[in-house]
Amino acid sequence: MSESEVRFKPVVALVGRPNVGKSTLFNRLTRSRAALVADMPGLTRDRHYGEGRVGAFPYIVVDTGGFEPVAKEGILAEMARQTRLAIDEADAVIFITDGRTGLTAHDREIATLLRRSGRKALLAVNKVEGMRYDSAIAEFHELGLGEPHAISSAHGDGVVELIDTALAGLGLVETPPDEEDEAQEETEFVAQDAREHRLRLAIVGRPNVGKSTLVNALLGEQRVIAFDQPGTTRDAIEIEFERGERKYLLIDTAGLRRRGKVFEAIEKFSVIKTLQAIEAANVVVLMLDAHSEISDQDAHIAGFVLETGRALVVALNKWDGLDEDQRDRIKREFDRKLRFLSFATMLTTSALHRRGIGPLMKAVDAAHAAAFAKLSTPKLTRELQAAVEQQPPPRKGIFRPKMRYAHQGGQNPPLIIVHGSGLDGVSSSYSRYLEGRFRTAFKLQGTPLRIEYRSSR
Ligand code: GDP
Ligand code: GDP
Repeated sequence: MSESEVRFKPVVALVGRPNVGKSTLFNRLTRSRAALVADMPGLTRDRHYGEGRVGAFPYIVVDTGGFEPVAKEGILAEMARQTRLAIDEADAVIFITDGRTGLTAHDREIATLLRRSGRKALLAVNKVEGMRYDSAIAEFHELGLGEPHAISSAHGDGVVELIDTALAGLGLVETPPDEEDEAQEETEFVAQDAREHRLRLAIVGRPNVGKSTLVNALLGEQRVIAFDQPGTTRDAIEIEFERGERKYLLIDTAGLRRRGKVFEAIEKFSVIKTLQAIEAANVVVLMLDAHSEISDQDAHIAGFVLETGRALVVALNKWDGLDEDQRDRIKREFDRKLRFLSFATMLTTSALHRRGIGPLMKAVDAAHAAAFAKLSTPKLTRELQAAVEQQPPPRKGIFRPKMRYAHQGGQNPPLIIVHGSGLDGVSSSYSRYLEGRFRTAFKLQGTPLRIEYRSSR
């Protein structure tokens, strides 16, 4: 068994009654980060997923969110549901209570769920600024969740210590901030050849679209080199296989287990697992069901792929059993709704009948090659100049942005840095124009493309 290559970031969930300060704490933990990992209302109602960071160590924060009291079942049932979800998804749960209101019956219910779960749980007593900590937390000891942490989400008191304790012992994944937060500086960037990268593939989509069927079709034909059972909860399950000359590492999203010869998904759909697999992959196959309407969930997953900049192939599965008219209509429909993914190749498959798998994997390889393409400075600059000549950037005030040269600043997705002066005001529509030019010139089908501007005086 090979050593695990992919580790997921630890997940910390925030639970508690409405108004105790969960979203305030969430914002404090994630605000140092410009980009939210994903904000997916509708996927699971009002849950927020963000990324926090302690030094070089990122973690995912889940705010179980502001739910409306449900008339029929009552707030208690809804809270219990949220808490269970958090327990399922998280490596550690922070249970937030309100030091000003004091201990309530609902707090006791949540505490009971947490104690029974065996999941690492921390108790935070919020809003204690200006109070005597020992008296604020005194009554919360009875919840049996260890020493309560006195915090103020609004002011930040006690928050660092709380999160350090939550993450302690979880085995963090070191990621230097620069690697993710900023485009690599030009001097540091060394273009690598696509072949140097093992293709890390994630197949994502909502339940029942045919992901496991595809995985089995894929692995059935090919030699499975290694299958890693996770060592810890955050080792991703990886399946290494070969196809042709190529080695692939499949990163599991659904908790695949081997049952005899086939793989079977044992877990229900998990947002977190999907996000983590997308982050760990360099190419993502988004699987859709041709027999059903495109859903919010599909669109949200697609949006997240876009945000992370991963290369993407869209597979419209279950293409069997449809007549010509239906096929035309469905194709048009998906094309229209997925226009924001126009950089991606969309193709049709029938995982069940093993149709379309060759073309799918070809598109995956092509997307990977595009994501790791090497773009030379002279060629980029020539294309930039041709583009500017044909359509100059619009003036901003009395200044016209001047674009002098372009070079590549990163891969997966390719980042093109345009140098010149007065570039602060370049409009997004002009950026899209340039993107289209570069995309065509360098045949970058299958990968998002980022353009940044650097002005010198
Ligand atoms: P949620 O419903 O649990 O997400 O709670 P919110 O984060 O929306 O906070 C509910 C209310 O409590 C808001 O009015 C916040 O401004 C307030 N609040 C949150 N944290 C603190 C705190 O540390 N101290 C005080 N005094 N108020 C807080
Ligand atoms: P997952 O939840 O995304 O892993 O979906 P599964 O692979 O478990 O498939 C869900 C159901 O769809 C199963 O009953 C499959 O047999 C069926 N299915 C998968 N692929 C196809 C396909 O290409 N055509 C048809 N007609 N059914 C399919």
